[in-house]
Amino acid sequence: MVMVYSDNKRLALELIALGKNLAPSLGGKVYAVTINQPEAVIKELVAHGVDGVHEMTTNIPQFKAEEYANLLKDLILEHKPDLVLIGSDKNGKELAARLAGILNTGCVMDATSVTAQGKTITAERVVYSGTGIAVEQFTTTPAIVSIPPRAAEPLPKDEHHHADVMKKQVTLKEYPSKILSVHEAKSEGVHVEDAEIIVSCGRGLKNKTDIQLVSDLAAALKGKTIGCSRPIAADLKWLSEDHWIGLSGHKVKPKLYVACGISGQIQHIAGMRDSGVVVAINKDPDALIFKSADYGIVGDLYQVLPKLVTALKEHAA
Ligand SMILES: Cc1cc2nc3c(=O)[nH]c(=O)nc-3n(C[C@H](O)[C@H](O)[C@H](O)COP(=O)(O)OP(=O)(O)OC[C@H]3O[C@@H](n4cnc5c(N)ncnc54)[C@H](O)[C@@H]3O)c2cc1C
Repeated sequence: MVMVYSDNKRLALELIALGKNLAPSLGGKVYAVTINQPEAVIKELVAHGVDGVHEMTTNIPQFKAEEYANLLKDLILEHKPDLVLIGSDKNGKELAARLAGILNTGCVMDATSVTAQGKTITAERVVYSGTGIAVEQFTTTPAIVSIPPRAAEPLPKDEHHHADVMKKQVTLKEYPSKILSVHEAKSEGVHVEDAEIIVSCGRGLKNKTDIQLVSDLAAALKGKTIGCSRPIAADLKWLSEDHWIGLSGHKVKPKLYVACGISGQIQHIAGMRDSGVVVAINKDPDALIFKSADYGIVGDLYQVLPKLVTALKEHAA
């Protein structure tokens, strides 16, 4: 059996789809765990093909890794899944690692692929900032694997699909750590992960106001999402962290990624390597970014971007 957990609904639906793919060699069933989620979420999980839901309500409404890991541990010991898929967001990563520690079992983080041959589970993950792929086979059960967003498309919605929903109220033992307050990260509401077209900028820009050139190109491409390299968000703070792409930023998968004045260091590539078509604009013909690009324009972005915008507008007209 495959057990899936994420407190992010979209990610949970993706895990269900992935689990259903793997389930045939693992007993055929996929069960989701929800903790303090509204009925609407449970209905969505059911409509997207899950076989069963452990709908847990607890005395701790807010995510807390220690308590939630303990709850999942009890469910795992009771139901003995072969594979536990956990959404690889901040909460999920902490949960997966703790769970593996408590259960003394193997854990692969941010897997790029999971396969099951019989009951033998193998997962792959990118290592050394993308210069290698580790292929790891589990020798312990359950296998715990954290899966990043967009690894799979949710299964089509079927309002008539039936699943067993097992409701349980549990009182969790509270751990000494306390959440004193929660501050929402400043967000501009940008979701680079969901964008189909991203125009991204790097240190090739001289001034913050020049981001307008990048916005103009995005608009001309009928996109509106601006991405950036780390220095633009973290050092110069010209854009919020919502836009930051790379190893320590967001991982994106657009159909078109245009990199303007970005050198193409491995830590940036790690975040955009799954893009469809990559266009790089850089004045240095030896810039690393050209190695990851499908199309390259060697030139000064201050000249190239306005010309591209004009050409695109003419083409559209
Ligand atoms: C642990 C770790 C994690 C990191 N995580 C990330 C991450 O998540 N994301 C990330 O992006 N980086 C990350 N970095 C930083 C990364 O190593 C690079 O330093 C960074 O990506 C460089 O940003 P850049 O390409 O914008 O700047 P630069 O490397 O300075 O490159 C600027 C480029 O612009 C070009 N250029 C200059 N002027 C023009 C012009 N007028 N027209 C056209 N081209 C021009 C230059 O030729 C150059 O190639 C990380 C580093 C570490 C150590």
